[in-house]
Amino acid sequence: MRDSTVTVPETLLAALKSHDRVLIAAHANPDGDAAGASAALGWTLRTLGKEVLLYNETGFPDYLGWLRLPSPVLRDISALPGKPGLVVALDSGDAARLGEGIQGLLREVPVVNIDHHPGNPEYGSAANWVDPAMPATGEMIGHLAEALELPLEGALAEAVYVALVSDTGSFAYGNTRPSTLRMAARLLEGGLDIAGIRAKLDNNWSEGKLRLWGRLMSDVRILDGGRLGVALISRSLPDEYGALREDAEGFVEQLRRIKGVRVALLLREVEKDGRIMTRVSLRSSGADDVRKVAAQFGGGGHRNAAGATVDLPPEKTLAVIQPYIRHVWN
Ligand code: 5GP
Ligand code: MN
Repeated sequence: MRDSTVTVPETLLAALKSHDRVLIAAHANPDGDAAGASAALGWTLRTLGKEVLLYNETGFPDYLGWLRLPSPVLRDISALPGKPGLVVALDSGDAARLGEGIQGLLREVPVVNIDHHPGNPEYGSAANWVDPAMPATGEMIGHLAEALELPLEGALAEAVYVALVSDTGSFAYGNTRPSTLRMAARLLEGGLDIAGIRAKLDNNWSEGKLRLWGRLMSDVRILDGGRLGVALISRSLPDEYGALREDAEGFVEQLRRIKGVRVALLLREVEKDGRIMTRVSLRSSGADDVRKVAAQFGGGGHRNAAGATVDLPPEKTLAVIQPYIRHVWN
């Protein structure tokens, strides 16, 4: 059953229908929404009889290794056996977030852009569906599948659900809409095993991850009179606990739990092209806008969840970002 409150653009449906070989790409270092939306669209197009290629510059994270995929995830465009007829970009507020490797292909073939980030410049040459009121790109793919008269069942339903819970904090953030909950109800009606997915998503931590989080919790810095919660992670810290770098993902949510904290800031040291840089994750609540802070550093995101990469080590990043964060509550 389709949701009468949501309209999928006809241009987008037409673009998808007119190509038989489709490459689906999402932003690098994908979260559950980017990966789930990719898988969900892949299953949708596969069901329509199309050849589906999944692409992600960094691959999908280990913690989503159980997600059923319609095809393997390619990380190298040059290894493609021939060109796709169409590229669909998912959950990427701008084309650059898809990674450097795909930029040439984006100029050569028609592009469909499906996303929920405010400020998306509608870079799709064939069609754009950009709706910042949508909590997850995965919800958009759910509506798209239903517009194509596919029931939300099996691997498709699983992938949509992973996207929904990832970007709504399991239906708890303010971005959750009635249409999101109605879609979740249809997923359940289709036989989705939500307890099974919860166990795969949450109850599969390594001992190292738990110990890493313990260390991060004891090292948290509370700054600016209790309004700013900060965690810094050096590149070597996860190793000390036998944890993976991706295990720090999501820790920023813990900082937001502290009473009085209005901005949560996670600073992860990374190395790119031989340079030490910092991956910045920002979280806030309600009207407090951290997207503006991320945008000052060339990043972006949503009002209450945003990120950027800063060309400085973590301590220096903290020093330069802190004055901008104070604007959030001033
Ligand atoms: P996270 O902190 O989970 O990495 O990212 C939170 C949100 O911020 C993501 O959903 C994404 O929308 C956005 N985001 C994170 N990093 C970047 C970035 O480097 N550039 C842009 N434009 N958005 C980002
Ligand atoms: Mn998203």
